[in-house]
Amino acid sequence: MRKTVKILGVKIDKVTEKEALSRAKGFLKKEGVSKIYTPNPEIIMTAKEDSEFMEILNNADLCTADGIGVVYGAKILGTPVPQRVAGFDLTCKILEYLKDTEDGVFLFGAKPGVADIAKQKLVEKYPGLRVVGTNDGYFTEEDIPMIIGKINESGARLLLVCLGAKKQEKWINDNQDKMTTVRLCMGVGGTLDVFAGNVKRAPKIFIKLNLEWLYRLLKQPSRIGRFAALPKFIVEVFKSKKGMKKK
Ligand code: UDP
Repeated sequence: MRKTVKILGVKIDKVTEKEALSRAKGFLKKEGVSKIYTPNPEIIMTAKEDSEFMEILNNADLCTADGIGVVYGAKILGTPVPQRVAGFDLTCKILEYLKDTEDGVFLFGAKPGVADIAKQKLVEKYPGLRVVGTNDGYFTEEDIPMIIGKINESGARLLLVCLGAKKQEKWINDNQDKMTTVRLCMGVGGTLDVFAGNVKRAPKIFIKLNLEWLYRLLKQPSRIGRFAALPKFIVEVFKSKKGMKKK
C-alpha cells in the first residue's frame, strides 16, 4: 500500500531512496506507463496556484520529496517523510540498475547537443547502459509526433523528460497514451545538464548539511527569484497546519 502525505495539496510518498528505487524497478517490469515526479517547494507552490498541474502531480505513481524544504514541510505538518529523495540521485540509482538489464533509456530535453553529450558520459559512467535515443527539449507542437515516433522506435523502457518543472509533467501527462514501449517516465528537470557536465552538483559536504540550495544560489545568483519560493512555502505550510487544527 502506498503511504503518502499531502503538502499544500500535493501528494508526496513517504519513501526512502531505497524504497523509491524498488518501486521504480517494479514500474519497469509492469505493463503500462508509470510516472515519477520529484516536487521541490517551488513546484508545490506553483501547483497550489494551478489546479491542472496539481492534478497531474497527484496522478503520478510516485512523487518524492526533492529538496530539504519539502522534508521540513512534512515534519511541520506532523507527517514526516523518511528522507529527501532528489530526482538526480534517484535517476542515478535507476540507471545503475538499468545497466545490468536489457532495458534502454531515452534522454529527452535540454538544449540541442546536451542530451548527446549526456549519453556519452552516461555510457562511460554506467558501462553496459543502453542509451537508445536522445532528443533536445526545444520543439514546437508540430514536432511532437516525430519525437513520439523516435521514442517508440527506440524501444526505450525508461524515458527521462527534462524540460523543466511543469512543462515536463504536462508533456508526460499529454503524451503517455502514445507510448508503446516506455514503462516509466520521469520528469527530472536539469538532470541532463548535470550528466553532460554543464551544471555541477554541489560538493557532498553541502548536500550532507542540507545546503545544496545555498551552493546553487552562490553559483547562479540569478536564481534568487526561484529561491524566494522557499520561505513562502514554509509560511504556507504553517498556515495549512493552523487550518488543519481548526477543522
Ligand atoms: N528546457 C527544455 N525545454 C524548454 C525549457 C527548458 O529542454 O522549453 C530544459 C533546460 O534546457 C534545462 C531544463 O529544461 O536543461 C530545466 O532545468 P532547470 O534546472 O530549470 O530545471 P528545474 O529546476 O525546473 O527542475
